Amino acid sequence: MKLLIVEDESSLRELLARALRKEQYVVETASTYAEASDKLAAYSYDCILLDIMLPDGNGLQLLERLRRADKRENVIIISARDSLEEGADDYLPKPFHLAELSARIQSVIRRSRGGGKGGIALGNVTLDPESCRVEIDGKEVALLKKEFDILSYFMQRPRHVVDKAVLAEAVWGDHVDQSDNFHFVYSQVKNLRRKLEEAGASIEIKAVYGFGYKLID
Ligand code: CA
Repeated sequence: MKLLIVEDESSLRELLARALRKEQYVVETASTYAEASDKLAAYSYDCILLDIMLPDGNGLQLLERLRRADKRENVIIISARDSLEEGADDYLPKPFHLAELSARIQSVIRRSRGGGKGGIALGNVTLDPESCRVEIDGKEVALLKKEFDILSYFMQRPRHVVDKAVLAEAVWGDHVDQSDNFHFVYSQVKNLRRKLEEAGASIEIKAVYGFGYKLID
């Protein structure tokens, strides 16, 4: 199993490399956009750990290029920026625990090997990002695009408390008005919760008072 760590902060890069080698991964590293680009052009990896802010470029551009080239590498974004970037298989905000990183790597690799790219299952709910299809107990549930995006966001981080502002930015994008008006979030989440409940889902998006939401199963 071969990994590429793209991270300009040398202490973090070396720490990750050492820890992952101990877990029997083959680990390569790149500290710049240019170096990462060269390696990605020349080799393939089972999983890429990708920092966003690099001294000579943006990790997201690397991700875009991979997707355009139809490369199927699994990508886990490791970044201080708290939003799930489109096209990444997973996302881990800094700081994180090595045990959690290792679990995420295993999970994205397992997911991609399981055929359906990035398909997620939790309780009796399955979600397929490629077909934008959600099933509960094997029966399709019709969701609007934003409802699907919200559910997808939560299913990728079950039992994590998600700030409503972070959710808004992840699902609606950077242009979201950062005023205190999150009515669009409340109403979409409310509709989604109702649909999940009506379809008999074993998962539930719980409100965390004054903060946001949490998906429980
Ligand atoms: Ca960085």
